Amino acid sequence: MKVVLYRTHGGLDVLQVADVPVPEPGPDEVLVRVAACGLNHLDVLQRRGPSLIPGFTLPHVAGMDVAGTVAAVGPAGTGRAGHPTALAEGARVVVNPAVPCDRCESCAAGADGRCPSVGVIGATLAGGYAEYVLVPAANVHPVPDEVDLVDAAVVPTIWMTAWHALIEIGKVRLGETVLIHAAGSGVSTALIQLAKASGARVVATVGSDAKADYARGLGADFVVNSTTGDVVAAVREVTGGRGADLVLDHVGPATWNTGIYSLAPRGRLVFFGNTTGNRAEFDLVYAYHFGLQLLGSDPYDRREFAAMLDAYWASTFRTPIDSEFPLTEAGAAQERMESRQATGKIVLRP
Ligand SMILES: [Zn+2]
Repeated sequence: MKVVLYRTHGGLDVLQVADVPVPEPGPDEVLVRVAACGLNHLDVLQRRGPSLIPGFTLPHVAGMDVAGTVAAVGPAGTGRAGHPTALAEGARVVVNPAVPCDRCESCAAGADGRCPSVGVIGATLAGGYAEYVLVPAANVHPVPDEVDLVDAAVVPTIWMTAWHALIEIGKVRLGETVLIHAAGSGVSTALIQLAKASGARVVATVGSDAKADYARGLGADFVVNSTTGDVVAAVREVTGGRGADLVLDHVGPATWNTGIYSLAPRGRLVFFGNTTGNRAEFDLVYAYHFGLQLLGSDPYDRREFAAMLDAYWASTFRTPIDSEFPLTEAGAAQERMESRQATGKIVLRP
């Protein structure tokens, strides 16, 4: 089968198309024939190095977001069985990329997001930049007949990240004002729709006027261009001077202090990304004086993934697709991602 892999870190030229044997599913494993694989920023960050998820090894096949059809099912083992209707040859499935160990105390307690030896398909394990991918049976979930596999492939990472940050960690409540940075990004696309569905008021920031209509189309109540406008002043204005109840920040240092100063007293800042770096500097006195709650968004539990998917299939949520590329043009797809011109998800099709 064809895969796209890299043996060293570097620019787009380290991505190589290679032929490797199709893997065989062992006990409690499923072989998925990839129909579509959604790209994520982590694909680019890890390819460049050296900012890597623990457990990463070279050579690496990226691709965390996979939808496809079940090509083969391994024998039943002693592990978790998985979803019965997803475990038949030909079943249309979407893959949960998180692979907890299922043996440690956290896993036994149902808190598998805190499993110390969790693996991630496409981040530490071989992923979806391939014609086939081998995954645990417990990680495949059925895709409803009416949902296209390309549309299913773009759901897992951005919706699960948004769901965990906004609902599990941020505990968004009806009527709250939520500030969401970088509305054009995939995660923010999900955050805006989830926040609106939760009954919140959404202030979204965009880097260009061209993306303002996009943010409004997703349901944002107020949109601020962070390049030309004053985000803190805009948040204060729409909240009568009080500030936002909740800020969702997956950008990092570039937006950190804007978030801090946009918060209402005892407001919550949920952070879960570092696309602009790993270190932020801020005024401790200001933060404690106003009782600001700085909440890191950790990995999600398996039960949340199933709940998120059920909610997604039953909703009118949508995940805009920016562009599709054949597998062999993975470099062009990542170049599109690096250009930051994309509005919506970029997809590879083997
Ligand atoms: Zn574990």
